[in-house]
Amino acid sequence: MATPQQLQLLAPLSGVLMPLDQVPDQVFSSRVIGDGLCIDPTSQTLCAPLAGVISNVQASGHAVSITDDNGAQVLMHIGLDTVNLAGKGFTRLVEEGQRVAVGQALIEFDADYIALNARSLLTLMLVLSGEPFTWLTPETGVVESGQPLLSLNPSEVVADEGVVEEGEALFSKPVTLPNANGLHARPAAVFAQAAKNFSASICLHKQQGSANAKSLVAIMALQTAHGDVLQVSAAGADAEVAIKTLAELLAAGCGETVTVMAEVETVAARTSSLKVLRGVCASPGSAFGQVVQIAEQTLDVSESGVSPQVEREHLSLALAAAVQDLQQLRDKATGDAQADIFKAHQELLEDPGLLDQAQALIDAGKSAAFAWRAATESTAALFKSLGNSLLAERAADLADVGQRVLKLILGVEDRAMELPEGAILIAEQLTPSQTAGLDTRKVLGFATVGGGATSHVAILARAFGLPAICGLPVQVLTLINGTRVLLDADKGELQLDPELAVIEQLQANRQRKKKRQQYELENAGLAACTRDGRHFEITANIASLAEAEQAMALGGEGVGLLRSEFLYLDRNHAPSHDEQASTYSAIARTLGPVRNLVVRTLDVGGDKPLAYVPMDRETNPFLGMRGIRLCLERPQLLRDQFKAILSSAGLARLHIMLPMVAQLSELRLARQLLEEEALALGLTELPKLGIMIEVPAAALMADLFAPEVDFFSIGTNDLTQYTLAMDRDHPRLASQADSFHPSVLRLIATTVKAAHAHGKWVGVCGAMASEKLAVPLLLGLGVDELSVSVPLIPAIKAAVREVDLLDCQAIAQQVLGLESAEQVREALRLHHEATVDTSLILEN
Ligand code: PEP
Ligand code: MG
Repeated sequence: MATPQQLQLLAPLSGVLMPLDQVPDQVFSSRVIGDGLCIDPTSQTLCAPLAGVISNVQASGHAVSITDDNGAQVLMHIGLDTVNLAGKGFTRLVEEGQRVAVGQALIEFDADYIALNARSLLTLMLVLSGEPFTWLTPETGVVESGQPLLSLNPSEVVADEGVVEEGEALFSKPVTLPNANGLHARPAAVFAQAAKNFSASICLHKQQGSANAKSLVAIMALQTAHGDVLQVSAAGADAEVAIKTLAELLAAGCGETVTVMAEVETVAARTSSLKVLRGVCASPGSAFGQVVQIAEQTLDVSESGVSPQVEREHLSLALAAAVQDLQQLRDKATGDAQADIFKAHQELLEDPGLLDQAQALIDAGKSAAFAWRAATESTAALFKSLGNSLLAERAADLADVGQRVLKLILGVEDRAMELPEGAILIAEQLTPSQTAGLDTRKVLGFATVGGGATSHVAILARAFGLPAICGLPVQVLTLINGTRVLLDADKGELQLDPELAVIEQLQANRQRKKKRQQYELENAGLAACTRDGRHFEITANIASLAEAEQAMALGGEGVGLLRSEFLYLDRNHAPSHDEQASTYSAIARTLGPVRNLVVRTLDVGGDKPLAYVPMDRETNPFLGMRGIRLCLERPQLLRDQFKAILSSAGLARLHIMLPMVAQLSELRLARQLLEEEALALGLTELPKLGIMIEVPAAALMADLFAPEVDFFSIGTNDLTQYTLAMDRDHPRLASQADSFHPSVLRLIATTVKAAHAHGKWVGVCGAMASEKLAVPLLLGLGVDELSVSVPLIPAIKAAVREVDLLDCQAIAQQVLGLESAEQVREALRLHHEATVDTSLILEN
């Protein structure tokens, strides 16, 4: 039996004991955090191994520590890297500061979910306060929850909480925390361990509290999060070197790999000396103006409700008002893209899952505001945790619409912000609602830490023609309002206090670009014929009827890629046949009977989920059930789409294109379904059927595909990612995943050769076709059509008119033998300078 001198620790779980040295995690196995044991669990409730007070329970529910009345402190950590699950799979049963009895249930967890989604389920029990212990059981083998395991000798307890700094404390500069999940157990242990190397008393401060920097639990109890601004203070002999070392350690991630922030140093010191902050372009253009920092309002929410009936009423009134506000935003929208975003927000407000969650909380006595916030936050966290970039962006939409309703429930007016002229807005993240409400007379552009180039905010920025950068380091949030900055979105740069010469240069470039664009636009109606008289078809990549109309107005000679999936994303039910048919027919009518309309069948799956097509979560979505694979697995989906597309036969020169084809059998099966649907409709003539060349297998076997198709269209975006084995959205591979790589060019050459040998035409519809530098290269490689982003149609047509096909063929042959994409780009730049007479045609 335990005595005050001999504290027993009981097994917190049932399972199999494993020596700590064998835990595949250096920080745990090296005992930096503390000595103890590891259990591979067979039960799913973590129980208190000792009586005491909960000194910390992580918000994500994966770790908890208990301190007993004599100062012994024990940490339980469920699984490895489980902090990344953001709480999913864990149910906390206790709160910080709560006294618990030995054996009391602390955390319930879903072992299956964790085993599937985290690195490991191995659970640690570690003695943080450093007492030596003896084993009460064999050190390996099966244990039952509640079985005595260790006996602690409390005589050597080191109480390290509640540090008192002696003498005058020195403070570090503020450091913005780069760790994605804050200082959770692992980085906190590294930090505490480093602090223990100094004799000075040291504290870690965040805005709302401080902790003894030598205490792991105290640091964890600070509940820090990514982006928190922290400071280290120290008093004592080695205080100066301590704060320098520890501030640098914090900025470097405390042993964790940190990405965007990897080079973050103490913020104030660095930002003031920095001239340029780098992110990625979310919307092109440039602007010179002054910094205006934007922060989201924090809202006070009380937990308990008046009565379920009253709270239900509150929620439904707020939801109705939000739907109305969103309708107004839709009505005021200047384009389809903008209107669609608010339509998607309205649909989120009808989501039964979300509403059921909120109603259940209201029925349990919570206020409408509390229930709504909890429902939206947990759903947004779920979206984020699925590791899918598109869903993560939808989480931002959900947070936005969630805040809109919350303000309506609480009766909080949106504070209209007085903006100065020439404002460059800076924010952690702007919401689509904030973006839509911008006063574009005063706002010249914006720069954010979060968001992505494909986020809704980026789409809105492009619709407004506002330059924008996202993915900037968090130092940007420390810029003082009024700081003069040059936002060069094309380069993804925010230049601080730029010199006059730089501003003048930018303005001159902008003037030149404007003139050039004017020239291109005035000549957009001319055919794209090379100087030696060969005509190339310049068509458009579109995702909506509005874009089809715009493409025709800008001189587009047809549609080379209709990304049909975009007609059906962001909705929670399948479109009816009539809805689909009327969309395709409207687009076909806009083109008319002599222009090509290439409709690509649904390219969903993987990174582009469709809410109404249930899909399994995949480890490698880009290598999984995507495009034609998914459609052939659900043939009815493909049949329905074929039927709807076929209803526009005759209205335009109809082409159907299959995405992600890798096997001949896929093409054959899809053709069979198409023929059956056409027969059922009584059609005597089939539309043209082609495939995208975006998997190297298809390019390499183009000679076998060519006899069985009417055309190829090369999707250089995917072809590049699959050829170079580089994720097309990977931020650190962005500059290397370049379609100008000779390996990709060789696959294009192979495809063209095979197609032409069988009398079939080849287009390019990946983003490469929209790059002016690629024009001579692609023409020289023999492609027949370029399908480009709508606004770039005039520029690409002008570029075709400036070259000779013979020159193009020569440069294409030359670059096929080069080593790298950089070499190819450089050769093309030199070729352009040598062959295009820039004195006759305005350059940009
Ligand atoms: C491509 O992969 O190049 C392409 C055009 O298809 P998407 O970008 O839609 O995948
Ligand atoms: Mg593709």
